[in-house]
Amino acid sequence: MFRVFIPELLPPAEENLEILDKIAQVKIGLSRPYTEVELIREVLEADGIIVSSREKVTRRVIEAGLKLRVIGRFGVGIENVDLGTATERGIPVTYAPGINADAVSEHALALIFALLRKLLRATGHLKSGGWRGDRALLGGELMGSTVGIIGFGRIGQRLATKLKGFEVRILAYDPYLPKEKAPDLGANLVSLETLLKESDIISVHCALTEETRHLIGERELRLLKPTAYLVNTARGPVIDEKALQKALIEGRLAGAGLDVFEEEPPKPDNPLLAMENVVATPHCGGSTWRAREKSVRLVLGNVAKILLGELPSLENIANPAVLGKVTLHSS
Ligand code: NAD
Repeated sequence: MFRVFIPELLPPAEENLEILDKIAQVKIGLSRPYTEVELIREVLEADGIIVSSREKVTRRVIEAGLKLRVIGRFGVGIENVDLGTATERGIPVTYAPGINADAVSEHALALIFALLRKLLRATGHLKSGGWRGDRALLGGELMGSTVGIIGFGRIGQRLATKLKGFEVRILAYDPYLPKEKAPDLGANLVSLETLLKESDIISVHCALTEETRHLIGERELRLLKPTAYLVNTARGPVIDEKALQKALIEGRLAGAGLDVFEEEPPKPDNPLLAMENVVATPHCGGSTWRAREKSVRLVLGNVAKILLGELPSLENIANPAVLGKVTLHSS
């Protein structure tokens, strides 16, 4: 029997543990974050570890796991796993990229509609005894508008597909996308400047890299229409938050929908959280039952496969270079 340690059992992992139960003794962690030292203690005897975004699988943790043969990550981001060390030590890291593309693109749509239809203000108005007639509740329509998508990867493209029914014009900016791909998805590939100037709604879906850190800063925000809405469900640092705050205060855009922040969780006194034209959610864009279940099943299944010496789909291996060091066979 293999041994697998799961520090945080995200629902609905429990219902899906039978995938691993047949081949491994699974130890579930306590319902609190683990320190590095505690994790080290847990991996000493483990053949596998599966983490969510909470625990950091550092060099020291990986090096302590002398029997470690696989690292799983429930979800998409692998910033919390030291991929270099895992590769050095011949340990495949399996994760679930793209699995929540529908969840995140739908969340972006939810933020867009919340802004357009002033849902927070309308709810507050009604709950405090108000009824119709508030001029400030007059909203905008998506139909006929121009939507700019920054970063046209898995999530950006799913958003474009979902937007088709709304009769909008779609602009996309992605310097790494082959030119011929965008028209198939109903979007025109344009420069960042054109997208910012012409869009009524801008939705950010690029990866966070050194190049995209503060991709939307003071200069870029000055290109927006004062009626534009900016939505970010990608990563906080893609937008310069201070510059965004200033632009909102000065009325250089109509509002923002934010699921991600430069500092997470944001400080309670982050001025953006107090602004009426900001709709904010706690980085839950990818968190739906469907996405979670798919991700959990996929990762548990892939961890089982790797323990049994089988090769999962390559797109689910975060460090494919490891395959030169371990031999896994197609099942
Ligand atoms: P992806 O890798 O499929 O797509 C990212 C796209 O960004 C790629 O097409 C890439 O070419 C593009 N890109 C890279 N550099 C760029 C640049 N300088 N300018 C414009 N585009 C650039 O990733 P994805 O699965 O679509 O995820 C997109 C984003 O959503 C990521 O930042 C991811 O971390 C984030 N995300 C957020 C949540 C959430 O809960 N809010 C969940 C999952 C993913």
